Amino acid sequence: MGTKGREIVGANTEKILSLLDKAFADEWLAYYQYWLGAKIAKGPMKEAVITELLQHATDELRHADLVANRIIQLGGTPARSPQLWYDFTNCGYSIPEDPYVAKLLEQNIKGEQCAITIYNTMLAETREKDPVTYNLAVLILQDEVEHEEDLQALQEDIDLMLNRPS
Ligand code: FE
Ligand code: FE
Ligand code: MG
Repeated sequence: MGTKGREIVGANTEKILSLLDKAFADEWLAYYQYWLGAKIAKGPMKEAVITELLQHATDELRHADLVANRIIQLGGTPARSPQLWYDFTNCGYSIPEDPYVAKLLEQNIKGEQCAITIYNTMLAETREKDPVTYNLAVLILQDEVEHEEDLQALQEDIDLMLNRPS
């Protein structure tokens, strides 16, 4: 119980906890989406795609851990049941109905773009109110920006491979 640490967040605590609860749900769903995608991926450059999806899954799980730690510091409790992930999520879960690599990439890119928007909003909401959560959002946002770029680079390589002039 860090009482002084919570005092500096003060009246903003409930609002910030609600943002963190939602982000926590997003991170778990993103983790699972990547993890499952890596299991079922099919198509060109499959090995490279799987490697990237697995790296991102690891990052999303680490984000969930970081967000959970901050929720607890602020006196909250991370979602007690996975059922709540669907209630809280901002970015949702894209069911990988089609295991084709390009389709998986497209779904995950959408997820990353949503995550970038969400953490950018968290920055705006915590700036000058909660420097600890602000710093956390900066760290995670850096990863999400990199994730989007990595996935779009793979998408581009697959496109080049499939559409190269013969
Ligand atoms: Fe994440
Ligand atoms: Fe990500
Ligand atoms: Mg990556």
